[in-house]
Amino acid sequence: MALDEETVRERVAAFLAGHDPAGDRLEFLRARFDAGLAWVHFPEGLGGLGAPRELQNVVEREFTGTPQINHGLQTIGLGMAAPTILAFGTDEQRGRFLRPLWTGEEIWCQLFSEPGAGSDLATLATRAVRDGEEWIVDGQKVWTSGAHHSRWGILVARTDPDVPKHRGLTYFVCDMHAPGVEVRPLRQITGEAEFNEVFLTGVRLGDDLRLGEVGDGWRVAQTTLMNERVAIGGGPVRRGGGMIGLVADTWRARPELRTHDLHGRLLRLWVEAEVTRLAGSRLREQLAAGQPGPEGSGMKLSFASLNQALSGLDVEMRGEEGLAYDDWTFRRSDAVDFFGRGPGYRYLRAKGNSIEGGTSEILRNIVAERVLGLPSEPRVDKDVPWKELPR
Ligand SMILES: Cc1cc2nc3c(=O)[nH]c(=O)nc-3n(C[C@H](O)[C@H](O)[C@H](O)COP(=O)(O)OP(=O)(O)OC[C@H]3O[C@@H](n4cnc5c(N)ncnc54)[C@H](O)[C@@H]3O)c2cc1C
Repeated sequence: MALDEETVRERVAAFLAGHDPAGDRLEFLRARFDAGLAWVHFPEGLGGLGAPRELQNVVEREFTGTPQINHGLQTIGLGMAAPTILAFGTDEQRGRFLRPLWTGEEIWCQLFSEPGAGSDLATLATRAVRDGEEWIVDGQKVWTSGAHHSRWGILVARTDPDVPKHRGLTYFVCDMHAPGVEVRPLRQITGEAEFNEVFLTGVRLGDDLRLGEVGDGWRVAQTTLMNERVAIGGGPVRRGGGMIGLVADTWRARPELRTHDLHGRLLRLWVEAEVTRLAGSRLREQLAAGQPGPEGSGMKLSFASLNQALSGLDVEMRGEEGLAYDDWTFRRSDAVDFFGRGPGYRYLRAKGNSIEGGTSEILRNIVAERVLGLPSEPRVDKDVPWKELPR
């Protein structure tokens, strides 16, 4: 029988009657997972109730004021690793990874990009060679957000250089504590280091850390990437909330900064923000019916361009004061903090929005080809073995 809103509310009430939110935070979160009230659309036994996805909003409302998970630090785990493990993991892997992933006891990072493979991810060169029941991994990853906090990483590696690039990849869970994993900070435009270079030297991973079949890594990675685009910028925003809310607040609070031109720009961006917000809520409704499709790329594209336009307008509106950015303190920040820091930080950090999770140029290609059905870019390397590609 499909669960409805009323039943889910009753389940939360029953749970709260037996578990004190003021008690141990971790115990509370673990018990919430075990009761199937972590992500209700997941299967029973794996943090869910097999309920329709939209009922998650009901659950979140009912749990207001109780211990919460850290969405910032857990973005990659929750948004990308979990749906991929659910779709491709064995029962053992799902049982092992999902609970500590959700409670935040284990943080995840994404080991995809390499110095020579970003947009064209399928050209990646990190190799994994089988040695009995283990794989030996060698290579270098880059821009790995949160690797310094992480217990596990989702990793794509080349297992067969003799076949065309998309066919020779395999997907693994990388043990970030294994010998041979070295994480080095990379400082970014804001002064802080959210991300890292990760060097993998002779790293041994058991075959039980493989997700999906050998050689099927590209298909597994597609699930991660589709989910990534929804995870970045696809979250619910209230009307007038998010970045547009911050800029409108500046407008309201500082009448001396107002000009006719800025007024027109603010209104145009307000309309765009509202369209993006409503498109996002439609996308989440579609998600209730299955996996995210290429429309998620459109969503992420709008999020990135809006964030850049709005953070730019905020800085511009403030004149010289807007340009002041003197806090170059080297920080190992946990997550992107758009709402806790000033306009200068927001402006600089928003630059990364059109790069992380797929650049805007690539997302436009995806929308053109897979949503609008326009002719695709010429691809000359599709049938060429990876080892013969010029690199
Ligand atoms: C803040 C931030 C966090 C990140 N976190 C992670 C992470 O945790 N894990 C991870 O694996 N990666 C991460 N990345 C990396 C990110 O996914 C890549 O930077 C991105 O995919 C682009 O790859 P690239 O940097 O190699 O650029 P390139 O692929 O070299 O692209 C350079 C430029 O050429 C354009 N271009 C390339 N191909 C085409 C084409 N066919 N048509 C039109 N234009 C094209 C691109 O759009 C871009 O403007 C992060 C990046 C940022 C900025």
